[in-house]
Amino acid sequence: MQMQRIEGIADVLRAVKAARRGGRRIGLVPTMGALHRGHAALIERAAGDGCFTVVSIFVNPAQFGPNEDLARYPRPLENDLKVAMAAGADAVFTPAASEVYPPGFDTWVEVGGGLTDRLCGASRPGHFRGVATIVLKLFNMTEPDRAYFGEKDYQQLQVVRRLARDLDLPLEVVPVPTVREDDGLAMSSRNKYLSPEERVVAPRLYQALKTAAEAAASGERRASEILRRGVEIIETQPAFQIDYLEIVDGEGLQPLNELKPGAVMLAAVRLGNTRLIDNIRLT
Ligand code: AMP
Repeated sequence: MQMQRIEGIADVLRAVKAARRGGRRIGLVPTMGALHRGHAALIERAAGDGCFTVVSIFVNPAQFGPNEDLARYPRPLENDLKVAMAAGADAVFTPAASEVYPPGFDTWVEVGGGLTDRLCGASRPGHFRGVATIVLKLFNMTEPDRAYFGEKDYQQLQVVRRLARDLDLPLEVVPVPTVREDDGLAMSSRNKYLSPEERVVAPRLYQALKTAAEAAASGERRASEILRRGVEIIETQPAFQIDYLEIVDGEGLQPLNELKPGAVMLAAVRLGNTRLIDNIRLT
């Protein structure tokens, strides 16, 4: 079957309903494009699960702050179509912003502040409101049985899970492990912004997380001590500015003083003009 390229909201619903009539389950992989191997892993997972796999590509204005990178966010559509097809997508859905947010649009989805005010939500006010709103809209547009999200964006994954649970959405949220470059840097569309010098420094973030996780694995239970090990590594690179480095429970994302099962370490740093995020499980 040829991969379909769909722009209209009515058209994508028609395509998924046809696939469902043909006995297929629907898998949705929401993305903002500039697809890399991390996105491909989500698409391969959905296709591997036997789903009629819809990859949405939409750079969602509602999740960008006024001083963020909406205008310069990469949009290499031709290459994205190739990556999606090679990974096994059945359809690529590229809705127009004017159809997603027509004049007069003014309904927003807010997941509770416990999950959304802290961490990335603290430095990106309104970000998760934009995410929750577009994700629910995409769910309504494509009626997926399963929706695939990367663990790379750990807070986003928990926000989407809570959204699905609190609103009784009839679908399964499927987490997919982070795909990394050979040197450990988590793949991200924003890595393209890094200068060659910054690109050399960037993998230190994951090294810091790994060092901290090793401390936990060898028996350290105090969050402060585990964090200290991570900070030490990050601070070897003056180019990094720490936005946050926290140890939290893996569901509610509340800070922990002592490790417990499910604990996760979450990090965001700035490197020049680029913001990098990453995370690691501690148990
Ligand atoms: P984005 O295009 O950045 O909005 O990401 C779309 C989806 O791909 C989200 O669910 C991300 O968590 C996921 N994703 C992005 N980078 C990676 C990665 N390196 N490994 C796994 N999933 C990723």
